[in-house]
Amino acid sequence: MATLEIKDLHASVVLDDETTKPILKGVNLTIKSGEVHAIMGPNGSGKSTLASTIAGHPKYVVDSGQVLLDGEDVLEMSVDERARAGLFLAMQYPVEIPGVTTSNFLRTAKTAIDGEAPSLRTWTKDVKAAMEQLKISPDMIQRNVNEGFSGGEKKRHEILQLELLKPKMALLDETDSGLDVDALKVVSEGVNRALETNDMGVMLITHYTRILRYIKPQFVHVFADGRVVDEGGPELAERLENEGYDRYLAPVK
Ligand code: ADP
Ligand code: MG
Ligand code: MG
Repeated sequence: MATLEIKDLHASVVLDDETTKPILKGVNLTIKSGEVHAIMGPNGSGKSTLASTIAGHPKYVVDSGQVLLDGEDVLEMSVDERARAGLFLAMQYPVEIPGVTTSNFLRTAKTAIDGEAPSLRTWTKDVKAAMEQLKISPDMIQRNVNEGFSGGEKKRHEILQLELLKPKMALLDETDSGLDVDALKVVSEGVNRALETNDMGVMLITHYTRILRYIKPQFVHVFADGRVVDEGGPELAERLENEGYDRYLAPVK
């Protein structure tokens, strides 16, 4: 059983000239393992900022508020410590890591998170099985991380990590973006397998309702201008599908 608590979180993005711009304006959210929370909102509302701030991305600074994982202060932890504590971020735009093969990357991450190297035989088998289920081409494992990967391959690789690293709390930032229906199904099945086999909670960030047909959220939160402005169950996602986000946006004068 794991609980992620976000309490009155205010955070800013660090701009290129090193000034900061406030983005998160008091976010409150609690996610428990076994639960899927969809975070939906218009572009630019701060969804990626929320995920990146929780994961400890250096481009974001916390101005006030708290993030607790099982009562432990996440904001005091280094990025590595957050991963070891069980936090996982699937990035909206996964980064390329030149010179590091996917195979090495996955084994190194697994070793760092578990505190010991996985047994080589089971590990090789687990990786192969997960790759097959995600319909990832076998040659990807020897390619450098995300280098030359298509958009869909990058997203599959994020979910491959999710399945292998078995986090307590997964922050999935627009894992659906840029996927065709077949890829969306494959990726969603991966998330659902992880939900079934691990004691994991999910923050499912998405702009569109499409992925919610495959990954069923119990809770839907609407995000606008850096905070949660509406909350409900799956019916709220249906309303957003029909009506869009207009009602949550400030009227244009
Ligand atoms: P979302 O994920 O909901 O689309 P983001 O968290 O990516 O929103 O962005 C929230 C706001 O922060 C936007 O107004 C965006 O322009 C701004 N922002 C994010 N990163 C930067 C940056 N590096 N420089 C300037 N503005 C940024
Ligand atoms: Mg965006
Ligand atoms: Mg985003």
